[in-house]
Amino acid sequence: MIKVLVWCENIQNKTQDDVKAAYPEGMHNTIADFLAKDSNISVETATLDDPNCGITEERLSKTDVVLWWGHVGHGQVPDDIVELLYKYVVNKGMGIICLHSSHFAKIFKRLMGTSCSLQIPPPGHGAEKLWTLLPGHPIAAGIPNPVDIEIEECYNEFFDIPQPDELVFNAAFSNCGSFRGGAAYHRGRGKVFYFQPGHETYPIYRQKEIQDIIFNAVYWANNKTRGQ
Ligand code: ZN
Repeated sequence: MIKVLVWCENIQNKTQDDVKAAYPEGMHNTIADFLAKDSNISVETATLDDPNCGITEERLSKTDVVLWWGHVGHGQVPDDIVELLYKYVVNKGMGIICLHSSHFAKIFKRLMGTSCSLQIPPPGHGAEKLWTLLPGHPIAAGIPNPVDIEIEECYNEFFDIPQPDELVFNAAFSNCGSFRGGAAYHRGRGKVFYFQPGHETYPIYRQKEIQDIIFNAVYWANNKTRGQ
């Protein structure tokens, strides 16, 4: 059983109506619900609004893979929580998947050691084609090439990340540009995957191919030797 913790800002409660329309139940619950359909995966959720962000040592000791979606509240995640997550990835082999605007999450920046800044050029939003660069990679298994996303926020290079250990996907946007949209890293004993799709006003986490990539990433990031 892979024990997954889905962490999100509870953004649908606080922001504009188009976020509420895309994820009325909360993005963390949308992601948790599709993951829970796999009988090999058990899922819990936590949000920024929970005490201690819902992150404790006891909880991480029972977690194989964390999914992290943050946006406007990156600065509200206490540094001691970031260090705890970092320790569990690097020293204890917990996997972490950082989604979309989590390129600026404190934990992602801590794991990368760079600014993780990027460009959002005008018009800001467009159709996306997610191209597979490594068809033999476990995260790309069974994924059509390309994956078409009807509309998404444009993320553009330059993306200030270290050279990925494995660059699995590249994102190409109509009228915008190009972005390293699926980047895999090894950090100490743990694995890290950054995955670009998932702006909060578009129902991208309901799309089958995106869900399949996240499933693959969970299986890839899970360290089978943990707990032995
Ligand atoms: Zn966004």
